[in-house]
Amino acid sequence: VMASMAHLQKEKLRLQEELLELQEKLAAQENNELSLSLQLQDQVETLKAKLLEQAQEISRLRSELGGTDAEKHRDLLAAENERLRQEMKACEGELRELQWQQQAPCRDCPHLQENARLQEQLSQLQREAEETRAKLVELDLEVQQKTNRLAEVELRLKDSLAERAEEEERLSRRLRDSQETIASLKSQPQQIKYIIKTVEVESAKAKQALCETQSRNQYLQEQVGMQKQVLKEMEQQLQSSQKTEAQLRAQIMMYEAELERAHGQMLEEMQAMEEEKNRAIEEAFSRAQVEMKAVHENLAGVRTNLLTLQPALRTLTHDYNSLKRQVRDFPLLLQETLRSARAEISQAIEEVHSTNRELLRKYRRELQLRKKCHNELVRLKGNIRVFGRVRPITKEDGEGPEAANAVTFDADDDAVLHLLHKGKQVSFELDKVFPPQASQEEVGATVHTAGVRGKGSHLLLTLPCLPQVFQEVQALVTSCIDGYNVCIFAYGQTGAGKTYTMEGTAANPGINQRALQLLFSEVRGKAADWDYAITVSAAEIYNEALRDLLGKEPQEKLEIKLCPDGSGQLYVPGLTEFRVQSVEDINKVFEFGHIKRVTECTNLNEHSSRSHALLIVTVRGLDRSTGLRTTGKLNLVDLAGSERVGRSGAEGSRLREAQHINKSLSALGDVIYALRSRQGHVPFRNSKLTYLLQDSLSGDSKTLMMVQVSPAEKNTSETLCSLKFAERVRSVELGPVSRKAELGSWPSQEHLEVLKTLLGDSPGSAAPPVRGHASPSAGQLASRSASIRRKLHTAG
Ligand code: ADP
Ligand code: MG
Repeated sequence: VMASMAHLQKEKLRLQEELLELQEKLAAQENNELSLSLQLQDQVETLKAKLLEQAQEISRLRSELGGTDAEKHRDLLAAENERLRQEMKACEGELRELQWQQQAPCRDCPHLQENARLQEQLSQLQREAEETRAKLVELDLEVQQKTNRLAEVELRLKDSLAERAEEEERLSRRLRDSQETIASLKSQPQQIKYIIKTVEVESAKAKQALCETQSRNQYLQEQVGMQKQVLKEMEQQLQSSQKTEAQLRAQIMMYEAELERAHGQMLEEMQAMEEEKNRAIEEAFSRAQVEMKAVHENLAGVRTNLLTLQPALRTLTHDYNSLKRQVRDFPLLLQETLRSARAEISQAIEEVHSTNRELLRKYRRELQLRKKCHNELVRLKGNIRVFGRVRPITKEDGEGPEAANAVTFDADDDAVLHLLHKGKQVSFELDKVFPPQASQEEVGATVHTAGVRGKGSHLLLTLPCLPQVFQEVQALVTSCIDGYNVCIFAYGQTGAGKTYTMEGTAANPGINQRALQLLFSEVRGKAADWDYAITVSAAEIYNEALRDLLGKEPQEKLEIKLCPDGSGQLYVPGLTEFRVQSVEDINKVFEFGHIKRVTECTNLNEHSSRSHALLIVTVRGLDRSTGLRTTGKLNLVDLAGSERVGRSGAEGSRLREAQHINKSLSALGDVIYALRSRQGHVPFRNSKLTYLLQDSLSGDSKTLMMVQVSPAEKNTSETLCSLKFAERVRSVELGPVSRKAELGSWPSQEHLEVLKTLLGDSPGSAAPPVRGHASPSAGQLASRSASIRRKLHTAG
């Protein structure tokens, strides 16, 4: 027992300890619970306060934003809208009225445009108002939605609050229960264990419930936070919608102001238009008044005019009647006038005819006068002129002293030439001297210019040489066209340049070509008034026999006969004449004709000629207006070589040839002498050449003697002879002043000497070169004719 007692004691002690412990624990738990409940109570208190606050907030919000307020606001806006719409309508009506009013008076005026602009603005404003309205409706809807949601939230809040209150009540009840339990436990220690257990269990339950409550509380708090958030958002939305509304209002105000302004403008414009209209009407009225006045005045003037016109009309009628009478009489008058006019015209024509006749007579007289003057001029100038031409030293002259130049010229006088012969200088004066460097052109151009010189009369007339290219040739050609005969001779020893001067080369044609070219161009120039027929003949005189170079039988000898018509003119029966119209024609003539010329080569010059070559151009003219006929002859003669043939070196036919040449040249000298000294008898018949050229040497004819000389030392004897011939022929010229003196200065003894020299039997001269003469062969003839053909051809 004791042991059990002790054990029980121990048990009792342990239990007591445990109880104490439990009591302590309970006390601690109690404390804990108390503090917890206190805490919870505090929490509940704060939550309550918060809830109250929220409820107050909600009620405040509701009062602020309550459904009725929003509705009111919406209604207000709608009413405002309605009012604006009505106003707009009224404005539109006014506008329409204004438009209707304005349409008629002013089209295309600025007001219309302004109007259109305003209308456009108005429609824009209307559109904007419409948009605003739509926005407003949207906002209303949103507000409605928000109110609904707010109500929902409130409901939920109420629910949660009720739940909480319930929970709290439950908790407090349990707390009370547990406190009672604790009290009962205290009072019943034997039941402690159970109670503790219960308490433990209870407290665990309470703990759980507390936890739940806490979580619930947390959730509720979150909910409240969310609601607050939503509330805030809604507040913001409300604020923005309020702002929009304010903006819209401002816009509406602005539009209204705009409308007002437009309206005012319109009114002003209308007023201005009205004023303008009034002004225009006034102006038009005043103008019309003035015009009316003027018209009245005009009317008065017209009336007075009418009054004065009546007598004028009377006189006009009178005039008309008299005119009518005149018209009746007109045909008679016309016939009479025509008759008299016809008579006058025929008289005038008669006068013109007589004047024409007179003019023609005068023209003919002038022509004759011109011819006379020409004759006089020719007589004054002297119709025979002698030129000298010195050829250049050529290769054929060789080298050394024999080929030295023996001829010099006077720098001041182009008519003077000096020859160094056997150490003595002999001077000669001719009409003109051409130095070796003189060109063909110059020679052609100066032909006749120096003819005015006379030995005793010095210079009668000086004509510059070079500027008068072809003038003198032209003068000769003109003479020929005018009906004068012209002779141009080339005289000189073989190789002195006769053929060169007359025919020239292809590149540098001589006098023949140039004269013919001028002849054709002159004839062409006179073609308007004159008809010309130009014929060409070519002949040669060899051994005093005349041959036709263009005939079919060149070897046939032709005779010179007197014209059977008794005119005293000479003609050559059978001499071929070719009609030519241009230089080309002449070339054709020589191409187709049989040009035969008897030639032979001497040791002086291969191409030298032992016969006289003649080119005879006949120009026959007819003046169509006067019927005047002219005939002129241009004789271009390339004479045979003038060199003296030594008796010893020439025999038989060669001697005969030389004698014939000398005879004909001296006959030519005699004839020229006789002509220039104006002797009664001129010995034309002494040679075939002078006989053939009788017509062309006598009378008004003109003769040019071109004396060709070589400048070479070895030719000085021949040069001296040629120059003596030239000077002596020239010195017989009969100038009008110096005629007597000239006549006296021609010693007959000297003349005889010249003739002797020409005949080649001058004893004082140097020994002439002896030539081996041979009869002209057929080949030589052909070569000579070919050379002529070539020259004529190329010159064309
Ligand atoms: P001719 O007919 O007197 O016998 P040419 O006319 O046949 O003499 O002349 C002999 C040579 O001298 C020819 O070769 C010719 O070309 C030349 N000749 C003559 N005169 C001149 C001159 N003024 N200028 C140049 N060469 C000339
Ligand atoms: Mg010759």
